[in-house]
Amino acid sequence: MRIVIVGAGVVGASAAFHLSRAGADVTIVDAQRDGRATAAGAGVLCPWLSSSDDEAFYRLYAAGAAYYPNLAGLLAEAGETDLGYRRCGALLVSADAEELDWSERLALRRQTHAPAMGAVRRLSPPETRALFPPLRGDLGGIFIEGGARVDGRRLAAALLRAARRHGAAVVQEHATVRATGGRVTGVEAGGARYAADAVLVCAGAWAMNLLRPLQAHRVVQPQRGQIVHMRLEGADTGAWPIILPPGAHYLVPFEDGRVVAGATRETGSGFDYRVTAGGQAEVLAEALKIAPGLGAATLVETRVGFRPIGPGVRPWLGWVPEVDGLAIGNGLGAAGLTIGPLAGRLLADLVTGQGSLLDLAPFDPGRGQGAQAEGAAALRQAQAGGQDSTTRAGRVCCFLHHTEQLVGIRDHQTRPGDHSEGHTESSPPASG
Ligand SMILES: Cc1cc2nc3c(=O)[nH]c(=O)nc-3n(C[C@H](O)[C@H](O)[C@H](O)COP(=O)(O)OP(=O)(O)OC[C@H]3O[C@@H](n4cnc5c(N)ncnc54)[C@H](O)[C@@H]3O)c2cc1C
Repeated sequence: MRIVIVGAGVVGASAAFHLSRAGADVTIVDAQRDGRATAAGAGVLCPWLSSSDDEAFYRLYAAGAAYYPNLAGLLAEAGETDLGYRRCGALLVSADAEELDWSERLALRRQTHAPAMGAVRRLSPPETRALFPPLRGDLGGIFIEGGARVDGRRLAAALLRAARRHGAAVVQEHATVRATGGRVTGVEAGGARYAADAVLVCAGAWAMNLLRPLQAHRVVQPQRGQIVHMRLEGADTGAWPIILPPGAHYLVPFEDGRVVAGATRETGSGFDYRVTAGGQAEVLAEALKIAPGLGAATLVETRVGFRPIGPGVRPWLGWVPEVDGLAIGNGLGAAGLTIGPLAGRLLADLVTGQGSLLDLAPFDPGRGQGAQAEGAAALRQAQAGGQDSTTRAGRVCCFLHHTEQLVGIRDHQTRPGDHSEGHTESSPPASG
């Protein structure tokens, strides 16, 4: 079976890896757009404190985090271990004891159905600061053991290398999808034609340009995120936890003193690929407010990415009913580094006719008007609010799930273990 994938962000790269591993004939085409989200994403993997009240979304989100150890195992088998993935824990911080009480209750409720979340511990201000020394001294914490981080650039590169090793071809060109008589025939890129039995459009915030000419229009908007990387000279940050303060910002430590402070959520930004004075100021002010010890850090760079925001919180994962042989993986918004690897796996299983790890019906690209209207309302709300309406632990709805068990039963048999990011950018919906 010949499959062409357009877009080598986390979704497309994961689909390419899983499909080529399953023996499919895969070509992946990517235009290396400025602002591709995967290259800018913070890498927080901690869905369990999400404030989304969409049950199907939360199930997918939690399953996405739970899939990481499994994916890391598959990549290790393929010789790829440099993902920037680490189960470093996530630390929700606040000076408000009531907010911490509330978050702790939520975390404990969700923990019952989320083995990947690991232990949940309430920490005093000194204990909190001991885990992340630049923090203010008055902040208490809730530590979520299963919180993790990943480096989107390294992960996508590892997935592509592994896909190549399984025989996939990688083409660096701008792609156009071709269809005749209501069926895809392939992709044109750089003057060449790549015939295909199925085409996966995983083109992030740019997907509309590909879908509209096929009469398969879906609304996907770019939401700009500016995110600041700094270095704390001499600090051994590799094992520090992710910091989730009240609000939509966060801190993500990586190795070698690197601390990433995120991020703006600029709905309506268009594809304006710039670092702005206001964006930089916002991110730094929020970071220093909770972690004044970062004031001495060296500014390394500011990355800019466009989150693909669909009309609602639920992504599209599946066949597009208007065109035979066309599937999409899109609309992952602020949760794409968490969900993306699993989304690619689900798409791969769909295309090869394998049984699915999760029920994809809630994410069907052909789903009905009700869901679209609900989604449009969520988008309007996001646009009105500007920033993330989801995040924080503090304002959450509670629905509980067994997603991780679902993923675990089918797939984890060879590798038990846990995994991943949290909250944050993560928080969905509107968000992100
Ligand atoms: C600042 C920021 C912080 C974030 N932090 C987190 C986080 O902490 N946790 C989390 O879970 N998520 C996070 N996200 C969200 C996450 O990064 C995205 O949801 C995810 O990366 C989207 O992946 P994608 O593959 O759909 O899109 P992308 O990564 O944007 O990839 C789309 C690809 O398609 C290619 N393309 C587009 N059109 C064409 C064409 N015509 N021909 C060929 N190629 C084409 C582009 O070049 C691009 O490489 C963050 C996002 C941002 C911007």
